[in-house]
Amino acid sequence: MTSSQTPTTAAELRGAGLRVTAARVALLETVRGGDHLGVEAIATRVRDRVGHISLQAVYEALHALTAAGLIRRIEPAGSPARFEGRIGDNHHHVVCRSCGAVADVDCATGGAPCLTASEDHGFAIDEAEVIYWGLCPECSTARSS
Ligand SMILES: [Zn+2]
Ligand SMILES: [Zn+2]
Repeated sequence: MTSSQTPTTAAELRGAGLRVTAARVALLETVRGGDHLGVEAIATRVRDRVGHISLQAVYEALHALTAAGLIRRIEPAGSPARFEGRIGDNHHHVVCRSCGAVADVDCATGGAPCLTASEDHGFAIDEAEVIYWGLCPECSTARSS
């Protein structure tokens, strides 16, 4: 990253009804450029770009961006929240039980088929949260050797 202000990102923030700040621009770009980063990792990268920002401010900005639908928050049980820029496709995640590594898993067939619940109980369903748990290649190699 060479510039700290990308017009398109600022325009997206504005379009989502959010006040544009250097920190929010850096935050959105950091989440999009990262791979399911946690809050601490995001804060470190944002500080590298815009200088000091409190963890509290990072939390608040992440919350605003998530609420505006610009980023997605995933929270595997027992692990801290992660954030990603891949939104709107209801993809799933596979999480390593041992080291916490996270990877994307596309929906098994077509577009968001998991939204067709076998019983919707009259709810208007717009998201299905599926988390696959297991061991990542590195951890399974470490265990079997
Ligand atoms: Zn692992
Ligand atoms: Zn993902």
